[in-house]
This record gives sequence, structure tokens and C-alpha cells, in this order.
Amino acid sequence: MNFSSKLLEQAVAEMSLLPGVGKRTALRLVLHLLKQPLAQTEQFTKALLDLRSNIKLCKNCHNISDTEVCDICANPNRVREIVCVVEDIRDVMAIENTSQYRGLYHVLGGKISPMDGIGPSQLNIRSLIEKVKEGEIQEIIFALSSTLEGDTTNFYIFKQLEGVEVKTSTIARGISVGDELEYADEVTLGRSITNRVPFESSLRS
Ligand SMILES: [Zn+2]
Repeated sequence: MNFSSKLLEQAVAEMSLLPGVGKRTALRLVLHLLKQPLAQTEQFTKALLDLRSNIKLCKNCHNISDTEVCDICANPNRVREIVCVVEDIRDVMAIENTSQYRGLYHVLGGKISPMDGIGPSQLNIRSLIEKVKEGEIQEIIFALSSTLEGDTTNFYIFKQLEGVEVKTSTIARGISVGDELEYADEVTLGRSITNRVPFESSLRS
């Protein structure tokens, strides 16, 4: 791409670093921003800067939060004995949308994936095991997508919890293999949480 303006080229280069945004789309977005009032671009950049400067991770569940402890963990009406293990905030949002789950979450921040160089130590697994060992949690629900990485992660955590008195279950698979949780419709996802099965029985199938 030949740019008549260095400033334009620079903005397009930055924009095209976003996932799924090619050079052409980046150019279209930048030109769109140029047509908008300056105040709108200021608001846009301010929102991103505010996000980066002020966002926190909940110290209990590692979910993205504005406060030290997220709204879900701080809610006295949530069932504290049940913890649903998910990959990231998108899964929390998907499950919350079903209105079928009243427990807490634990956000791993990814899945074990040797191909991508992601091992257990890069994920929030240790804090989960420690939390379970404290004894208050009675049930862990695995709600990772049923990909090879998801299954590996579930199994790793399951093995780490051997000898610890806690029930482990996995969401029922109305969701087909490889589907990401966030794309499952609310009814299917809600049902799969309600109809969860013991983790061990999912290993046999
Ligand atoms: Zn939390």
C-alpha cells in the first residue's frame, strides 16, 4: 500500500495489529475515524486508555473487573460452594446470560496448549487448587470448550485435585466438540450447565 501521508500510514499500521483486521479494513476504519468529529476520536482513545490503566483482575476468580473483587464474587446471593472453571471472561458472560447458574467462577486465562507454549504454570491453576484445598468449595464444574486443549486442561486440574474432597463435574455436551462456549445459544448452554455430569463419567465416553 502506498500512502500519501506518513500519519495515515502509521495509524493504519497500528490498527492492522488488531486480530482479524487486515490492512484494507484498517484503512477503512481509520478513514472513518477521520470523518468523525475530533471529540469522538478523543472519546474512543480515552476509553481504551482508561481500560488499560484502570482494569483489574478479581483477586478471587481472576475475572476482569473494575474493583479488587468482582461483582459476582462480591454478591452475597451467589452460591460460594460451587465454582465453574472457564477460560476467560467471554465464557463468564455467556454463562451469566443463561441466568441458570448461581455459583462463582474461576477464570484460568487460557487453556493448556503445548503447541502454543502454554503450560499449567502460565494459567491460574495453582490458585484454583489452593482455593479448593481450603475446603469451602464442594463442587467444581469444568466448562472449557471440548477441544483437545480444553480436555487436557480439565484432566490436568482433575489429577491435581486427586485426594481432595470435592465433586467434579463437566457441563453436558449439547454443545458439539470444538464449539466455543461463547457461541452456544443461551438455552443450550443453560441446559448443559443444569444437566452437568460427573467428570469421571465424561472420561469414559
Ligand atoms: Zn471474582
